[in-house]
This record gives sequence, structure tokens and C-alpha cells, in this order.
Amino acid sequence: MDAAPGWALWRLPVPAVAAVIAVEAAAIGVVVLAGRAPLSSAQIGLAVFLTLLSIVHTELATGIERVRRRTAETSYFDLSSVWTFAAALLLPPALAAAVIVAVYAHLWQRVWRPAKVPLYRHVYTTATVVLAAVAAHTVVTFAGGLPHGPEDLGSVVGVAVAVLLYVAVNTALVALAISMSGVSSGGSAVGLKDLLGRWDDNALEVATLCMGALAAVALGSAPGLIALALPPILVLHRAVLVRQLEEVASTDSKTGLLNAAAWQLQAGRSVRRMQRMGVGAGVLILDLDHFKGVNDAHGHLAGDDVLSAVAGELRAGVRDNDLVGRFGGEEFVVMLPDLPIGAAGRAELRMVGERLRERVERLDVAVDTPDGMLTITGLSVSIGGATVPADGTVLEQVLKTADASLYAAKRGGRNLVQIAGPVEIPAARKPTP
Ligand code: GH3
Ligand code: MG
Ligand code: MG
Repeated sequence: MDAAPGWALWRLPVPAVAAVIAVEAAAIGVVVLAGRAPLSSAQIGLAVFLTLLSIVHTELATGIERVRRRTAETSYFDLSSVWTFAAALLLPPALAAAVIVAVYAHLWQRVWRPAKVPLYRHVYTTATVVLAAVAAHTVVTFAGGLPHGPEDLGSVVGVAVAVLLYVAVNTALVALAISMSGVSSGGSAVGLKDLLGRWDDNALEVATLCMGALAAVALGSAPGLIALALPPILVLHRAVLVRQLEEVASTDSKTGLLNAAAWQLQAGRSVRRMQRMGVGAGVLILDLDHFKGVNDAHGHLAGDDVLSAVAGELRAGVRDNDLVGRFGGEEFVVMLPDLPIGAAGRAELRMVGERLRERVERLDVAVDTPDGMLTITGLSVSIGGATVPADGTVLEQVLKTADASLYAAKRGGRNLVQIAGPVEIPAARKPTP
């Protein structure tokens, strides 16, 4: 499948291909139009210096950056914007574009090709950075260039606006590509979060650009000062890595769901918040029926494929802010905040439980077994549910009650949803496959 990742562009929907080509053509057009101004040897020297700084930065940080890419598939910028932004502020657009192309060619070689990012995506990112750099350069030029002295407030404002414009252009162009291709990285429909990226990722981008602006001012007055910029930039890199390792540590690697510890932490926090706000919440525990049979018949690897397919169904069957976790083995948990208190909340919890039960029942999982490809069907899940505050005001209590409901569902014949509560409407009994 990865035989020609560079050509994966042609597998995208037509509007996405058109958007990619249009943005790349615009970047080339802008650079060609701006390229007429004569360049001084000092400017060329500065361009080479910035490129070298970026190469040194990437080489020092390559280990960090590779891990970052592996753990954050959707993040679409990197800390090299310190240098590309400094180039945008200090150099004419054509020369800044040359720096950007050189920096991105090096990053491709050292970071993104090994991380198997498709080439077309990297080229597109390069084009968006060129356009963002031209926009930033235009603003700073309009505001009178880089700050020259203590009274030069207009230029400081110009640099600040350039930072925001650089982020805005980049984000808008990346959002354009994502919305044209019509799917998020997770394969679901595109949401605003996919388009705009995570809040802390954007904050990091702004921090990086601020470093770039300071680097540009330092280079303009005393180039040696740039040596002082490298340590904070590398520490910024480390901070990103720590955050992303935290994310890895809270994820169950087999299913991509929250692991038990992370789920308990977040669900506990959510229950406390619901209590403070005076609203209800619900917890579901799900246990696949006769799962040992799947392993016995098709092997553990096929069993693992079933677990990850079930996880996908659970995630797709609830709201974005519901917490879905793998509790262990073939047991899953879902926490649903913001339910009405009392019978209405129980009814809603039952509805969600039924929806998840039906999703699992309808699931076909294609698995590769020693005997060839086959499709596993006839899966089922038993579900127990309990609500806050009726069944408890702390997570542990509610979980205990939900677990008791789960065992009632198992005893009741499996493939059932059982919600704890005084007005229990018996669920229709389904035969187990
Ligand atoms: P029941 O309907 O009573 O829940 O029957 P069951 O077979 O699902 O229940 P039991 O708890 O006896 O068995 C759970 C099985 O889940 C046993 C174990 O082999 C399997 N299992 C647990 N974790 C994993 C996993 O990570 N991968 C695979 N493939 N199987 C797992
Ligand atoms: Mg079990
Ligand atoms: Mg089971």
C-alpha cells in the first residue's frame, strides 16, 4: 500500500487535489512575483545562516521530533517555524521562500520521510508556510520593518500581528485541505477540532513564532545572541514531548481508547464536576459475550482485531465528550456526563446502551487467520449501567452498581442491557448466537 506514498495525492477526493494544487501554485506565483528585487550578499549570507541554524536545531532535536511525529499524527507544524518565521521577517519573500524550501527539504529527509508522511502532504505544508511567511513579511514591512528602538511601538505591534497572521494563514490552509478531503485523521466526519487543531498545539505554535520574532530582532542587532535562543527552543521541544508521552501513557494501545487508569481518573473528575453542577451522569460497563470462544475458534490475534473493532463501534456510538475506556480484557466502560437526574437519565442511559449493544450485534469483523481471511459475525455484548446520583455520588460506588447490573444482564441470558434503578423496565430478551 505504501509502495508510492508520493502519489497518494491522487487517491484524495478531487476537490482536495484541486485545493492542494491551487495552494502550491499560489505559493510559487507569489514567490515569482516577489522575486524581482536584487539581493545583497549580506541577505544571502543571512539566509544561509538561518538554514544552517535550522539544520543544527533539527539534528539536535531529531530524536525528540521523531517521537513527536510518531505520537502525534495530526499535528501539522513543528518548531522549525522559529527559523522560517525569522527568515520571513528579515529577508525578502523570495529569499525567505528559499530558506523555507531548504529547511523543509532537510526536515523531510531527517524526520518526515522516516515517519512515512506522504510527500504530497509535506509539499503542501511547505507551500502553506511560504504563503504564511509572505503574509507576515508584508505586515511587518507595512508597519515599518523590525523594531529599531525603544519608541518604535508601531513595529512591535506589526510583529505581533505578523505572528497572528502567520498562524491564521497556516491554520486556514491546513483546514482547507482537511475539509476538502472530507475525513478527519480518525476516519470520522470532520469537526471543528480537526480543522483548527488542538488549543495547546496552537499555543505552542504561537510560542515558537514569538521565539522566531526574538531571534529575528537578535539577528538584526547582534547575531551572536542567537546562541542564547537555542537552549530555550530545545527545552520547548522537550516540553512538547512530555505532554505527548502523557497522552501515550493514558491510551490503551490495542484499541486506542483510554486505558483503565486514565478512564478512572477522568471519569472520577467528571462525576465530581457533575455533582458540583447538580446534573446527572451515567456509567456503562460492557463485557463481550463468550469472547473466549472467539479466541478459541480463531486465535488471539483475531480476538484482538475484534476488540479493536468493538472499540471503534463504541467510540462512534457515543458523543464526543463521553469517555470510552478499555477496562481490561474484553471489558469496556463508558461514562456519559450531562444526563438528566432520575428516571429520564436512566431512560437515556438505556437508549445509549441499546444503541451500543445493537452496534456490536451488527458488527462484521474481517480477520486474517492462519486459514485465510474470514469474517467474524454474531458478536454480542452484555451491558450494565448505573447513574449519578441515584446509584452513588462517587465513581467507585456507581461502578459497583453498574457491575452488578452487568452480572444481572449476563445471568439474564446475555446480549442485554440492564440499568440499575427503581423503575426498571425489563429489556427485550435477545437470543445469544
Ligand atoms: P462471558 O460471556 O461470561 O463474558 O464469557 P467470556 O468468554 O467472554 O468470559 P471470560 O471472562 O471467561 O473470558 C474472557 C476472555 O477474554 C478470556 C481471554 O482469553 C480473553 N481476553 C482477555 N483479554 C484479551 C485480549 O487482550 N486479547 C484477546 N484476544 N483476548 C483477550
Ligand atoms: Mg470479562
Ligand atoms: Mg466476556
